[in-house]
Amino acid sequence: MSKIVIVGAGYAGMMAATRLERLAEPFTIINKHAYHYFTTLLHEAAGGRGEPDKYRVDIKEVLAKPSSELVVTEVTGIDRERRVVRTEAGEFPYEYLVFTLGWVPEYFGIPGLAEHSLVLRSLNAAKQIRSHIEREFRQYREDQNPVHLRIVVGGAGLTGVELVGELLDWLPELCMTLGVPWDHVEVQNIEAMPMILPMVAENLREVAARTLTEKGAKLRINTKIVQVTPGRVHLEGGEVVEAGTIIWTGGVRANPLLEQAGFTVDRRGRAKVNEYLQSVDDPHVFVGGDSAWCDGPDGRPYPPTAQVASQMGRAIADNVHALVHGRPMKPFQAHLKGTLASLGRELGVGDMVGVPVKGVVAAVAKEASKVKYLLELGGVRLAAAKSGELVHL
Ligand SMILES: Cc1cc2nc3c(=O)[nH]c(=O)nc-3n(C[C@H](O)[C@H](O)[C@H](O)COP(=O)(O)OP(=O)(O)OC[C@H]3O[C@@H](n4cnc5c(N)ncnc54)[C@H](O)[C@@H]3O)c2cc1C
Repeated sequence: MSKIVIVGAGYAGMMAATRLERLAEPFTIINKHAYHYFTTLLHEAAGGRGEPDKYRVDIKEVLAKPSSELVVTEVTGIDRERRVVRTEAGEFPYEYLVFTLGWVPEYFGIPGLAEHSLVLRSLNAAKQIRSHIEREFRQYREDQNPVHLRIVVGGAGLTGVELVGELLDWLPELCMTLGVPWDHVEVQNIEAMPMILPMVAENLREVAARTLTEKGAKLRINTKIVQVTPGRVHLEGGEVVEAGTIIWTGGVRANPLLEQAGFTVDRRGRAKVNEYLQSVDDPHVFVGGDSAWCDGPDGRPYPPTAQVASQMGRAIADNVHALVHGRPMKPFQAHLKGTLASLGRELGVGDMVGVPVKGVVAAVAKEASKVKYLLELGGVRLAAAKSGELVHL
């Protein structure tokens, strides 16, 4: 057993792992599945853009060195005193732990939301959303009940907006295939805040809202979901929206295993780290990605994005390697290169290093970012093998 254990093979975990391989540092990586999936593209998998399985890559295809060990199992706890990771397959001791188990949905205590909504949280969940919608649309053919054709997406941040854009490109095709009237379909995107996409500039938000509305979305800002019961979304003020499909994208929090293990966490459950991405409670534990509470130069925590997670993963690998070899660690600073939100297959909005982009240009930039990630993850070999499947230019 190697002394470095990474838990979670998402953006942060995989970047830490590939870097450790390059540094010839042995490690064990523990993940629920034998594959890494592209979380940032889950809306495409849910929204019918080709086969869902193309949004994943076998971990062993990326981590090929014999010194890297992959264990496929569910992590159930961290015992900090004994320095072991508890899993369904037994315990794994570590000298240095890299905690990158990502996020879970934040339900903000809204009654019934967890029980009666779908969440775009994994590749399996994306497949589930897609087949649920297909089932509802088929059911409409049986009983002509229009509720089967109503989809409510709660939350209009990046995930909600990208999902709505994708659905609005796919659903007309689905209607055509199943012989269901497209003009009976309703996609409501419900947001409690007074705006959609708070992370992009105001004029681009307007572009996004206009684009989605023209595609057929019903955008409802300043609208609070207060309860969810089976097939019903209850809004502040008493309105009840009946829907065959209810999807929640309204918030994320860090993996709860951190709080359970007694780490210092913020209100989103993220573990506080120092400038080297080491837990402030335990120098043997590094935390990266959506699980980390790391303040940027402006004193505000870095946002939970794949971009930051990937950079943290690489920085953690360098610092663990330095620590193992008695060398000084380097402080982490993220390089934020902008945010791109897709609005379906051919349009988008966002900014690239501060330069605003919209429409087809933003969509092309988003497609190019897929190639960039594949190159970072598995070099030219993986990019050549996978980009043909993933990139739509
Ligand atoms: C639809 C969507 C679109 C997005 N678009 C963008 C975007 O355009 N740009 C951007 O920067 N960010 C985007 N994000 C956010 C981004 O995906 C996350 O910030 C990123 O995935 C966080 O990386 P991570 O490594 O912390 O966790 P994750 O990528 O979530 O990885 C965590 C890993 O841990 C595994 N795991 C979890 N629990 C356990 C357990 N108990 N045992 C074993 N394994 C476990 C999971 O299976 C997963 O492999 C998007 C998110 C979504 C959902």
